Formats: sequence, structure tokens, C-alpha cells
Amino acid sequence: MTAPVRTPENLLDLTPAAAEERLRVFFTGRGEPAYRAKQVARRLWQAPVASFEAITELPAALRAALAESFVIPRLELNVRQKSSDGTEKFLFKLADGQGIETVAIPDDGRMTLCISSQAGCALACAFCATGAMGFQRNLRVHEIAGQVREMRLLDPPIEITNIVFMGMGEPMMNWKNVDTVLTVLNSPQGLGIGARHITVSSVGILPGIVALGARPEQFRLALSIHAPTDDLRQTLMPVNTKYPLAEVIDAAKAFDRRVTFEYVMLGGVNDRVEDALNLARLARDCRAFVNLIPLHPGGAMGFTPTPRDAIVRFARELRKGGVEVAIRKSRGKDIAAACGQLRVERLGRRPPRPAEQDGHVEVA
Ligand code: SAH
Repeated sequence: MTAPVRTPENLLDLTPAAAEERLRVFFTGRGEPAYRAKQVARRLWQAPVASFEAITELPAALRAALAESFVIPRLELNVRQKSSDGTEKFLFKLADGQGIETVAIPDDGRMTLCISSQAGCALACAFCATGAMGFQRNLRVHEIAGQVREMRLLDPPIEITNIVFMGMGEPMMNWKNVDTVLTVLNSPQGLGIGARHITVSSVGILPGIVALGARPEQFRLALSIHAPTDDLRQTLMPVNTKYPLAEVIDAAKAFDRRVTFEYVMLGGVNDRVEDALNLARLARDCRAFVNLIPLHPGGAMGFTPTPRDAIVRFARELRKGGVEVAIRKSRGKDIAAACGQLRVERLGRRPPRPAEQDGHVEVA
């Protein structure tokens, strides 16, 4: 009789606590001391290794045994590009060939990693490059948190201090996995990044907002508002049919931490004084902080960026209305670093643009 073949379990799809428990069962079942589980668990996220083989503090026979029962998959790095301003973008290839993007943005002593939560996106926001490519699939836990893990595996490693879910995809449409990812990112046994340094960005998927708010940690929420009325928002963001503005605002009010509104400045579309007044009212309503985002030209066609001086005037109008506001910096101009753009270019959906027009990564 042959032994049943079991697929090796992926330890990087589990919370650090669950992975350590699996390892404890594995080691004690072999008559090994329980401390071995902690030894290996440390090597998943805190001081990650490329493979079990690299856990040299473990006898070779145990490393081989681990590799029979478990996997700790890498993400394959396909492209790495560095901007003159220090911003770096990475295109990872997943096991099934999907491409996802990650951008590392150094700023003022911080290193923010912009991560993807889905391959593609189903929401089809009119100005967004990822929206134009359609939805491929949800990313698994190890594919999302793995984007951070891969930074620690670089030589030299990039030490990440902040995370924003502002890469490809809608994190709240992949909540089950994002929920676990948040634990991996924040847990001291995982990547150990402070909850206040982790921002989930969403178009306003109501059950997701409730679920994030229900977590005891102080994770931050950013909401992509982009228009101060339903009529206008409808034309830019089809998701507004399912989750209308008023309901998103109510959910933001009910959220027990301060939220950030994201508002991409679209020339002649949502940048009138009247829009500023309406936006100010909404932001005051839920004491939101407003981030004005200069439009990145790599999004879907048909929009022009609001000129810089008009963005400044719009910001001033919001401030007069009693709202705290910031204009996001543009980063990575020379490397097409807008999330969603690298993959689009690689897939050849759009012709590559000359460097001087290329991507801006926008960070708070
Ligand atoms: N799906 C989530 C997170 C990913 S997008 C969300 O929508 O919030 C992160 C932010 O980038 C969102 O605010 C999105 O609207 C914005 N964005 C998309 N395309 C853009 C573009 N071409 N220029 C500037 N910001 C853009």
C-alpha cells in the first residue's frame, strides 16, 4: 500500500501563530523539541529565508523533512527599476504567470511599500490603468504579504516602515485574504509593522469598511471619493451604483478612526469651486483628512490633469471650509511608477510612453 500523497502546506498563507502551531505539531510528532517550531517560524517573516535549505541553524535532515511537508514560495522578480528620486518599482510574476506590481517609496526617513491585493481589478474606475485591464483573480495571502517579504530578501534588503494598499486591485473585494495579511504585516511574529503605518485604500465597499473597523488594531482607512456628488461619481466609478456616496460617507462616520479621502484631480471634471465646496461639506461631516492626488497620465484615456495652480486653489478652498488637506507628491516620474502601469506596459495594452511623461507614484 502506498502512503497517501499530501500536497505540502503553504506556511506563508497562514497567520504567524497558525504557522507556528503547524510547525509545533510537525516537530513534536517527530520527537523533536518544541522550540524548533519557533526557530523555523522566525524564518518565515521576521528574518526570512529563500528556502528551508537556508535555515542553517537546523540539522540538514530536518530541513529536508520540512521541505517534504511544507512550502514557503517566493515571488519571482521580473523587473526592477529605480527612479532618480529613489522610488523603486518591482514587477513580480506569480506561479500561474500573473504579473503584479509593488512600488517602494522612500520619503523623510520612511520607506512606504505600495502593494497589490488583486491581479487586475473589477471596478473599472474611468481614470485607472488597473481598471482598464479587467479582473484576473484575487491574490493569496502569501502573494500579498510576500511583496513585503521579498523586500527583506533583497541584497541589500529594503526595510519597509509603512504599507499602503494602493497597488493593483480593491483590497476589500479580497477581504478574507487581506484580513489575514493585516495580521501577518502587523504581528510581532510576522513583519512587525505598526498598525498606524498600514493603510487600506478602498472605493468604499461597505462590508469591508465594517470589517476593518471591527479589528482592534489601529489600521488606517483611505477612501477613494473622487467626486462629491452621486451623479458625477457614477460616471467615474461604476461601483457607486452598489455603494452610493451617502452610504460610504455614513460608513466613514461610523468608522472609529479618522479616515482619509482620496480625490484625484481631473481637469474640468471634478475640480470646480462648487466641487470643493461640496467635498468640504462631506469631509467635515466625517472629519476626514483630504489627499488631493494629481492625475497620473498613465490611467485610462480621456482625462487631463488639473493644473498645479488650480490644485492649490482647490486645496485652499477646502481649507477655508475647515478641512485638513494635503496635495500628494509625485514620485518616480522617470520609471512609470504609477501602480498598475508597469504591468499594463508589459502586457502591451498601451504603447510605452517616453520617460518624461511617465508615472508618478503618489503617496500621502
Ligand atoms: N482599489 C483601491 C486601491 C487601489 S488604487 C482604491 O481605489 O482605493 C489607489 C489610489 O490610486 C486610488 O485612490 C485610485 O483612485 C488612485 N488612482 C487610480 N488611477 C489613478 C491615476 N491615473 N492617477 C492618480 N491616481 C489614481
